[in-house]
Order: sequence, then structure tokens, then C-alpha cells
Amino acid sequence: METIIKKINREKLKKEDFAEAVDILRSGGLVAFPTETVYGLGGNALDKSASAKIYAAKGRPSDNPLIVHIADKDALSGLAEEIPLMAWECAKYFWPGPLTMILKKKPVVPDSTTGGLPTVAIRMPSDAVARMLIAESGLYIAAPSANASGRPSTTRAEHVYKDLAGRIGLILDGGETTIGLESTILDLSGEKPVILRPGYLSREDLLPILPDVEYDPAVIAKTMQKDIVAKAPGMKYRHYAPKGNLTIYEGEQKAVVAAVNRAVEEKMGEGYTCAVLATEETKGAYTCPVVKSIGGRAQEEIIAARLFDVLRSFDDGGVEYIFSESFPDGNLGPAIMNRLLKAAGYQVIYVGAE
Ligand code: AMP
Ligand code: MG
Repeated sequence: METIIKKINREKLKKEDFAEAVDILRSGGLVAFPTETVYGLGGNALDKSASAKIYAAKGRPSDNPLIVHIADKDALSGLAEEIPLMAWECAKYFWPGPLTMILKKKPVVPDSTTGGLPTVAIRMPSDAVARMLIAESGLYIAAPSANASGRPSTTRAEHVYKDLAGRIGLILDGGETTIGLESTILDLSGEKPVILRPGYLSREDLLPILPDVEYDPAVIAKTMQKDIVAKAPGMKYRHYAPKGNLTIYEGEQKAVVAAVNRAVEEKMGEGYTCAVLATEETKGAYTCPVVKSIGGRAQEEIIAARLFDVLRSFDDGGVEYIFSESFPDGNLGPAIMNRLLKAAGYQVIYVGAE
């Protein structure tokens, strides 16, 4: 199958630009499109064969459910039942935006879309291209991140092309995504609200509306926890991983630099290609020939937006060992570190001060 990239002019959104995508979606096919978080791989959420195509294109395990994207808040009642008041409150405050809510599903939502779960994940994106596509199609759009399963999510159309060319017909190119990390997943199907995946919206952002919201213990763990089972099925898989072996170094800045420089020297001595994921403050202190700065240590939004692109760029350079700093614990800290830890398969080296 030939994969076409169609550029969308955000300054002037025209219905005609979406006509082909809408045709594909209505006839049960797949279209990749930008959202404010990452690119999504969309198909008709109520068509089980479209969901099956999504799993096949990504190579995604079929027990890992899809997020259903909607273009207006009222669509919630078309997909979910026993919707608690707090879900409507969250919709009012956080939609459109990077919040996914888990609710009890209506029978109309096929098991293949929810990975066999009795609940459904729903999000109303704010991105104008995503919204126009969903609205024009007149469908609910199931869309996981548009990457090959296990790889870093995609924040640019070229990333999607690299992972999925030949497997899907059309990619709508709306430029680089603004947030760059996936949505916050909030489970509202139980007694208490629980964050199953940290995202752009932190627990602190949700507290004014949900005073008793908590993180699921599995999502803030800094090590792989065998006794804690992630409630979002997707969170249990190795994820976001570059091809090279990634290790995170945590500790006092100078000690981290020294330890990374030693590790690089050792691996380069063995003939491996190495790279360092650094910050503006530290980039000059590394001896490795390839050092990528992701941004200033305090610039969380930039770190979040660039993380997947930087991880992918190491693959393009054929890097075999990647050494990364750990990032600060601000509002986006849990979301950034959750992705980085998974990308590293939880390989963290703690270094003391020297
Ligand atoms: P992605 O769209 O690729 O970011 O993946 C969707 C994420 O949402 C995965 O981690 C899923 O496991 C999670 N998810 C989707 N539906 C549900 C659900 N009904 N219950 C719990 N987690 C879900
Ligand atoms: Mg994903």
C-alpha cells in the first residue's frame, strides 16, 4: 500500500482537505492525524474490523485498548453509561484537551476497541485538525498513538511515515505536535478517581475538580514493580523505546557527568556508537562525540515536546548506547520520567556526589 502524506494548512482549514481522509474512515480504513499530544492512528471506533486494522498496522497486542476520540462533549453519552457527575465536571474544565477518561462502556462499543474491557477510554482533543477530521467524519475515532508498537510515540508526520509507511494509506501532516506527550488517563469507572497514566495534566491540575484523585502506584514507580499491576493495560509493556540501549543516570549533576563520561569511554573502547541525552546546562561537560541537548533543565514544556523526537533521532544515527540525565520533578516531571523510564526499561544508575 502506498502511503501519502497530505499537508494541512492550519491557517486556513478547508473541508476539501479532509475529504479523502473522511472517505477512508467511513469505508473502514485508517488515517494518521495530528492531535495536540501526539499523532494518532485513527479508525471508526464502532467498527470492529477497523480496530483490528489498527492493531495489525501497529503490531499492537490486542489486549491493549484504544482511546476513542470525539469532537463534542455530548458524544460522551453515546459511548459510555452510568456517567458520574465528576466526568461531566472534568469535561467542562479540561475538554477539549489532553485528558482521557475511562468510563463504563455502552454495548455499542465493540470489545475489540476496548481490548475486551467493560470500560472505554474517551478524549476530546483540542487540536483543530483532529477536531475537524472527527467532526467531518461524523464518527467516533479510535486512535492510539501512531507509532509501531513499543517505539517512541510520533510527534511529526515524518515519524509516522517511518514507522507505518506501507501499512496505512494516508497521513495528515499538521506539523509538529505542541505537547508531545500522550494524554493523562483518568479512571472514573470506580469509586475513586485514579490517574492511570501521567500526562500534560498533573494530579495537581486535577485536584480542584477531583479533590481525592490519586496516581495509580504503578505509574509513578521508579523501578519495575513486579507486585504492582498497571491498570491501563498498555502501561505494562516495554514502550517508547529507541533501538539503542538507554540508561538513565540520576544524582548530583557533576557526579552524573563524571559517571556518564566513564561509561561512554568504556563502551566506545569496546567499539560501540554512543550518545548522551543532556540539557543546556550540562551539554558542554560531556566528552562523548554525540551530545544532544533536550532544552534547559527548567524548561519542562520543551523537554516534554522534544523527548520522543530526540529518542528517535538516536536511532537515525545508529546509536547503540544512550546515556541520559534524569529530569526535574516539576508539574510535568511524572509524565516525562514515566516515558523515559519505560524507554530505558527502568535501567537507572544512581550516582553519589564525588
Ligand atoms: P495510546 O493511545 O497508544 O496512548 O494508548 C492508549 C492507552 O490507554 C494505553 O495505555 C491503554 O492501555 C489505555 N487504555 C485505553 N482504554 C483503557 C481502558 N478502558 N482502561 C484502562 N486503560 C485504557
Ligand atoms: Mg501509545
